[in-house]
Amino acid sequence: MSALVRFLAGFCREHPLDDKLLVVPSFVAGRQIGEALAREAGSWINLRFVTTPALAAEVLERRGDAGAARPMTSSAEIALTDRLFRELLAEGELDYFGQAGASPGLSRALHRAVRELRLDGRTSADLRAERFLVERKGRALAVLLARYERTLEADGLLDLPGLLSRAVEAARRASLASVRILCPADLRLCRLESELVSAAAGGRLVTVPGDAVVGLERPRQCRPLPDDQDLAGAGRLSWLFAPDRVPPEKDARIEIFRALGPANECREILRRLYAGKVPFDQAEVLAPPGSAHATVFYLLSARTGLPATFGDGIAVSFTSPGRLFFGLLDWLENDFSSDDLCRLLENGDLTLPAGAGEGPLASRTACRHLRNAMIGWGRDRYADRLSALRESKLADFAVLEGCAEGEGGDERELDRAAALAAAAEIEALSASIGRLLAAIPGPDAGGFFGLRGLCEGFFGLIRDFGRSESDFDRRALQALLDRLGEFAAESRFQAMPLKEALDLIRTAGASLRVGASPPLPGRLHIAGLSSGGYSGRPLTFVAGLDEASFPGRGLQDPILLDEERAALSETLPTSADILRSGLFGLASVLASLRGRLVLSYPSYDIVEGRESFPSSIVLQAFRLLRGRPDLDYAALDKALPDASGFLPGAGRAFDEADWWLDRLMAEPRPDGARTVSANFPDLAAGLAARDARAGEKLTAYDGLVDIGPLREEVDPFAGGGAVMSATRLELLAKCPFGYFLRHVLRVQPPEEAAFDRSRWLDPLQRGSLIHEVLCDFMTGVAEKGEAVEAARHRPELAGIAGEKIAAARRRIPPPSEGIFESERRDILETLDIFLTAEETRETKGRPLAFEKEIAAERIEVAGGRSFRLRGFIDRVDEIGEDTYRVIDYKTGSAKPYEDLVYFGRGRTLQPALYAVAFEQMMARERPGSAPRVAESGYFFPSRRGEGHEIMVGAFDRERLRRLLEELLGLIEKGYFIAGPDAKCAYCDFHDVCVSGGPDGSKEECEANRKVFEAYAKLDEYK
Ligand code: SF4
Repeated sequence: MSALVRFLAGFCREHPLDDKLLVVPSFVAGRQIGEALAREAGSWINLRFVTTPALAAEVLERRGDAGAARPMTSSAEIALTDRLFRELLAEGELDYFGQAGASPGLSRALHRAVRELRLDGRTSADLRAERFLVERKGRALAVLLARYERTLEADGLLDLPGLLSRAVEAARRASLASVRILCPADLRLCRLESELVSAAAGGRLVTVPGDAVVGLERPRQCRPLPDDQDLAGAGRLSWLFAPDRVPPEKDARIEIFRALGPANECREILRRLYAGKVPFDQAEVLAPPGSAHATVFYLLSARTGLPATFGDGIAVSFTSPGRLFFGLLDWLENDFSSDDLCRLLENGDLTLPAGAGEGPLASRTACRHLRNAMIGWGRDRYADRLSALRESKLADFAVLEGCAEGEGGDERELDRAAALAAAAEIEALSASIGRLLAAIPGPDAGGFFGLRGLCEGFFGLIRDFGRSESDFDRRALQALLDRLGEFAAESRFQAMPLKEALDLIRTAGASLRVGASPPLPGRLHIAGLSSGGYSGRPLTFVAGLDEASFPGRGLQDPILLDEERAALSETLPTSADILRSGLFGLASVLASLRGRLVLSYPSYDIVEGRESFPSSIVLQAFRLLRGRPDLDYAALDKALPDASGFLPGAGRAFDEADWWLDRLMAEPRPDGARTVSANFPDLAAGLAARDARAGEKLTAYDGLVDIGPLREEVDPFAGGGAVMSATRLELLAKCPFGYFLRHVLRVQPPEEAAFDRSRWLDPLQRGSLIHEVLCDFMTGVAEKGEAVEAARHRPELAGIAGEKIAAARRRIPPPSEGIFESERRDILETLDIFLTAEETRETKGRPLAFEKEIAAERIEVAGGRSFRLRGFIDRVDEIGEDTYRVIDYKTGSAKPYEDLVYFGRGRTLQPALYAVAFEQMMARERPGSAPRVAESGYFFPSRRGEGHEIMVGAFDRERLRRLLEELLGLIEKGYFIAGPDAKCAYCDFHDVCVSGGPDGSKEECEANRKVFEAYAKLDEYK
């Protein structure tokens, strides 16, 4: 029996009819003390458990002094501090903090300082500037605190210190004389709490001794105790900090283990419970504040059904409404990024009702349409892009409708039904998202947002679009709604930038925890070090005792430094007080425990990949256990078994994951690959592919493919299926494996408009916009028979560019006005470079054609065979009689083409191919002529290209034919192995490619000479 319970039992026996109030740190702790009392000492009556705020409320109630003031939650206090701070900044009253500006982090720190000062009974009048190391800071804090005090008064608000100090005054006028107030000696109270307890007791305060803690200084916040404490009933753990003085008859059952990270620590606890057949409700787990242990147990509980209660509840961010709340904040902050929205839908935290009376839209369907709509981001784009997608589905339907009867048969019917169904889904999705967006207010004329409107918007969204399936979810939803309602009620915030408003709203949910519960039968109880240890269960685990987590680093408060605290008040806690208090708190909890104690610490930080070390309290426990105060950390390290990790050890599996890992380690070792292959045919195929790829001999998995069955479709020599383009041929020359993925297997990189804050147009979009502008401009110039003159044509070109840029802006919203303007200027600069280069061109010529289509032109190769080519020529100039220049605009750098002679080893084939194709087309268009392309190549009208041109002149047509024959021969022979020149870093398939790239091919080169000789031949065509 702990000293506290023993004392209470005696006191209740002696004063059964007195009204008794025991001050407790929380109601959850009070309930446990009551149960322990009943369990260990029999019945009791007239004893109630109160926290200090509850005691204050009772004092005010009994004195008829409750008043009309509205109590505030801590996040309302933070919001108020933030508002007043902004007001004072705007008024120029806070010069010390002026440079830092308003931010939620600073508001939280200031609120902490204000609260601590007020809990210590300090007022703005006490904050004399000369007591601060920097007087300006002292003055600024005094101004803020004075405004805070006045606002509470004027608005009839009651923060926690206000409640306590009002109760202290009331109790000093008249204590609760009819009640006996009992206060645990080890309870650490702030000054106002301490004064309240004393004033309410009115000289009849009963100090309840806890279990003795020998060898450790008592924190200042504890009530004093007589020096000669009775140690007769103390357990061995009372001497944790004085192991050399422990009486030999005192016994304790202490175990220590370490684990690889907190998750494995929690698993090891469960494995020990299973192995020892300990019922869950016979054990309690304590962990330091801020550690991950409660979260790990919660996630295990959600996944495996582990029955558990949480003394401090769990953070709302782990519940579905919490994830929705924070996810929606990110969604807004990222300018309504469709990626963020899809994530919320895919996680199931956001549900979109399809319409009146209909069920929610399947998230996979909604995400598919959202992605296909290419929304990217931007509030206004959802309706437009979804409408365009719906139109395209209806157009597909119309085309299918228009097909001749019987054409396509059942398949056409299915396609028609699918197109119609998709159109209906998109319509419902658009309506749902419209409702979602309508709930979120837009900015005012100045681009600022009202906090109240946003809070109300979020309130409606998480209430109407969320999911609450568990008890934790329902509590989290209610807690979030309450907080948002409270924030919305604080309506006097000035409109502010969106980011600041969202950060403030985030603080409303950041500290919320829900589902705090006392220990319940049949469930493992998990609690914090300061709130736990009251369950009286025979087995207690204290986890997370690494030196960084406990007792902590002891950093000073950034606003109120230790020296300033000491100068302001003798009771304001310093960082040393906080460390001492934490250490003493745990020592007193451990001293109060009876039964088996298991201490543990994470010995490795898996995320950071570094070792972590035990707290001093673990070393003390080890010394106590061995009765050897001289033992050091090295001895502890040597004595402890290896850290518990992912492998549970024979027969200690806690869940399915443990069981599988255990099976994999069992002797004889199971053949995991064989078992997996036997049960999962796709994985079996994957394993076979991996083995084949690992061999020296090339196989289909490396890209040595028998294209026989597909020859008609993929071999350009074999039939009409494969019409080649210059880009396609160049890809084949650069990396045949990439060609195989894209054009044989038809693997496409996902098309998704991703939100990039630093860019408006990607290189492809920018390039095609410039192409369009130049095509329109040059068409106009050619029609008028003019030659380009920079000064004269600049306005005309700028006019065309302005229209095209505006249209692009409607399709693709820029992330900011600044970025748009910078890219717009860059485009205009490119066009200016074009004008200058065009004006100063030596051989002017006559622009003849733009965007000239090459429509499946038959191109001869060596050996009398041919293939079909398609493409578009950006521009053709007539530069002499039957003599032409073929130009392709490139908006990037000229660097990759600097070494081009004729064919770039097959990697730059376009100039030669377009020249040949154009000559053939012209010969048909102008019968009897002998057209000749004298120059064909690239024009780089950009800052990076500096207006250069790289042209291929007269080249050997026969060599081109031989090159094409050899290149296309790779497809014919099924040689699709990654080439030695593959540029994997720039490849679209980089993330999914399994070929091993050039390194892989180097290894196989020796054993597969024939294939690589075919590749090497291409190198001869410079
Ligand atoms: S990642 Fe490398 S080997 Fe694979 S397709 Fe791309 S370029 Fe070829």
